[in-house]
Amino acid sequence: MTKFVFVTGGVVSSLGKGIASASLAAILESRGLKVTLIKLDPYLNVDPGTMSPFQHGEVYVTNDGAETDLDLGHYERFIETRMRRSNNFTTGQIYKSVLEKERRGDYLGKTVQVIPHVTNEIQEFIKRGAGFETDHAVDVAIVEIGGTVGDIESLPFLEAVRQLSLRMGPNNSAFVHLTYVPWIAAAGELKTKPTQHTVQKLREIGIQPDVLLCRADRYIPQDECDKISLFTNVQQWGVISMPDVDTIYKVPRVLHEQGLDGLICDKLRLNTQPANLKRWDDLVFEVEHPQGEVTIAMVGKYVDLSDSYKSVNEALRHAGMKNHVRVQIEHVDSETITEASVSQLARFDAILVPGGFGKRGIEGKIQTARFARENRIPYLGICLGMQVATIEFARHMAGLAEANSTEFEPHCSQPVIALITEWKDADGTIKTRDANSDLGGTMRLGAQSSNVAEGTLAHQIYGNVVTERHRHRYEANVHYLDKLRVSGLVISALTQREQLTEMVELPQTVHPWFVGVQFHPEFNSTPWNGHPLFNAFIKAALGHQSSGKNLKAVA
Ligand code: GLN
Repeated sequence: MTKFVFVTGGVVSSLGKGIASASLAAILESRGLKVTLIKLDPYLNVDPGTMSPFQHGEVYVTNDGAETDLDLGHYERFIETRMRRSNNFTTGQIYKSVLEKERRGDYLGKTVQVIPHVTNEIQEFIKRGAGFETDHAVDVAIVEIGGTVGDIESLPFLEAVRQLSLRMGPNNSAFVHLTYVPWIAAAGELKTKPTQHTVQKLREIGIQPDVLLCRADRYIPQDECDKISLFTNVQQWGVISMPDVDTIYKVPRVLHEQGLDGLICDKLRLNTQPANLKRWDDLVFEVEHPQGEVTIAMVGKYVDLSDSYKSVNEALRHAGMKNHVRVQIEHVDSETITEASVSQLARFDAILVPGGFGKRGIEGKIQTARFARENRIPYLGICLGMQVATIEFARHMAGLAEANSTEFEPHCSQPVIALITEWKDADGTIKTRDANSDLGGTMRLGAQSSNVAEGTLAHQIYGNVVTERHRHRYEANVHYLDKLRVSGLVISALTQREQLTEMVELPQTVHPWFVGVQFHPEFNSTPWNGHPLFNAFIKAALGHQSSGKNLKAVA
């Protein structure tokens, strides 16, 4: 039988609820339990796919092709269970489903209301996320409720989990509340009042937390913990500090040492083996004992919000640990890169152009790819980063001066990158797709595989088959591939049926490490082994550094 832990947040947002939930899940997994995580988002968008990365951070893509909240990335990086579409849902999805049922007449003429119809729907979605009555049912599902207690938006979610907990019966669910305990410098004191208030708010709704995770810039002294316990009706051992730490990999140990997992297992009557956090301790050791450092330029347009490229940042750090080096990432705004200014990139050990949408900053990215190619600086182009590298190569090496993507130049005469529906056959007719495929003109999403050509860098990295996740609409136009090949671009992976380019590279005789990938490898990186492509990229950055060819090494 699946048991639930509901995680709510109080006082302010951005306290690290995702990391706290993922850390608890990781500790429970280390006790031998099968665990999953579910994220409930209180906004009305059906999914974050259409939301700007400036507002919402990265859109994380699951194997089954769902566009989800970036917290699902934390989950996959912290635990073994893979996330599915059903692990994340929004108020928008709940209402969509309720309204569809209403239109179909499923409610038999009843007045459709937030309680019970919306709250029942939420409970059904939670059970689906936990794999109820399927072969992937888990022992514990940790349900993270987005937003802050007291928001109007999240009320139906809180009511739904209160009801679900009641229906599950005693000892089948636990409530964890993340709160904030500010240090007031002028008074020299930690203040517990906001915590008292947020718990009052929760109890008003009928939820009594079993655990308070108290975020603060330090450990909360015993006196203050006792006070919090007394005023919130939470047992003393349930008041747990979540102090600032310098690496997120320390969080599982910090929580375990204060007995969080023991307390949850006790409450849920789960009898397990003891927790084993060795793999986390090893990670912390790796982070704290780097043997060198590489500096990577990340040339993109969403440079102001570091969460926009969350998974890429993490994948680079994982690969750093694998190579025993600290990775410094410098975000460079592609709009600032021009022919005159591009040489500023010479000081980096390697260059990465991540995914993106829209025309802004594109010419700067094309300049970047050219600079990396001509100066033999290791280059990794991800999705849009592969497309700009292909356009650049077409323009300057294959004599296609007008090469572009129809995303940026809809009527360009040499559409080297285009929607499949825009690929033209030699006689000029628009190529139609086979009736079973639904790729062109819509987003290509989720995990797909293709063969990798022998004798390529891609083959050294992936072996015969590459399986990675996708999120894009445009593709390298098959009708230009021969021209690009003759001019020296290697197409190292191509899907069999549709002839979609998955990977391009330069021969190692002309460039030490230049790779473009149409997919998003960053979503498959974990801290345990890194990811083979990122591991190879960081290794190439180290090679470039030790060759002394970057200006930093010269200076
Ligand atoms: N905008 C490009 C496309 O839709 C690339 C997308 C991406 O980088 N994720 O194909």
